[in-house]
Amino acid sequence: MAMYQAKHAGRNTWRFFDPTMQAVAVRRALLESELRQAVPRDQLRLHYQIQVDRHARVTGVEALLRWEHPEYGMVPPGDFITIAEESYLIVTIGDWVLEQACHQLADWARETRTAGLGMAVNISPMQFQQPDFVTRLEAILAASGASPERLKLELTENLFMDEPDAVRETMLRIKALGVRFSLDDFGTGYSSLSYLNRLPLDQLKIDQSFVRPLFADDVNRVICASIIDLGRNLGLEVIAEGVETQAHHDWLEEQGCHAFQGYWLGRPQPLAELERQLNEPVCIAGE
Ligand code: C2E
Ligand code: MG
Ligand code: MG
Repeated sequence: MAMYQAKHAGRNTWRFFDPTMQAVAVRRALLESELRQAVPRDQLRLHYQIQVDRHARVTGVEALLRWEHPEYGMVPPGDFITIAEESYLIVTIGDWVLEQACHQLADWARETRTAGLGMAVNISPMQFQQPDFVTRLEAILAASGASPERLKLELTENLFMDEPDAVRETMLRIKALGVRFSLDDFGTGYSSLSYLNRLPLDQLKIDQSFVRPLFADDVNRVICASIIDLGRNLGLEVIAEGVETQAHHDWLEEQGCHAFQGYWLGRPQPLAELERQLNEPVCIAGE
């Protein structure tokens, strides 16, 4: 364990073995084996967070994964997505998320009130890079009867770093189905901006790390305004995530931001609560 940590730290260094290393490794192995059971034991849940347009209309939701663990309660994805990726479980889990999301879309399509809603689903790079990802996606869409135009896949910039041409190819095949793409956490990655024009993207999602402290530092406002400009010039829709206050919303709207998501509008919530929220008008001053 000490050797692996030393290698991980960039080699040519040393680490002492420490019993906490073992404790961490044991806990991780336990979590992995429990996570393996999460799908068959029906412990995964989707929560939904609304997205609204400039007219305060709810245009759709983002599906956010939760693991309802019998002992630890509702585990947020930040605590298990990495383990899921490292153990390839993300492929099974990702399929489950897509199936749930598409079935929900198909259910909503049957009711006039909810028929216009879209669904954004987070896709991990490892899931996207599975050779049969497009085939599986097509099968899930067909089995659920969901309209592909209502589905939006959220990708992150790190996906484009390894094999940008192969990723572009896959994106074009998915785009041909009618599915849309949003670039999540935009502004936090290290990849080149030149891909923005080459990839069939529909939306840029300004990362919450710029939005939440919007008024704490001028730089955040400069970055948000620049991303909104970039989107406008490239013909891409821009959505801001992490909109926690009306002041955030109003400032971003003034800059020309098209869509908003954040605690001020609604928290991620289970289906029943979401449907209750959809019955109430979203309160935005001035509307
Ligand atoms: P993300 O896709 O960037 O999702 C936004 C995260 O910000 C969510 O955290 C959401 O609950 C939180 N959030 C939304 N509005 C606000 C706000 O106004 N203030 C604050 N402080 N936070 C806000 P969550 O649900 O814990 O998800 C964390 C990350 O886990 C997601 O980031 C996404 O990268 C990943 N994730 C979630 N569901 C899935 C999934 O089904 N598959 C994969 N591969 N990743 C997922
Ligand atoms: Mg997301
Ligand atoms: Mg994000």
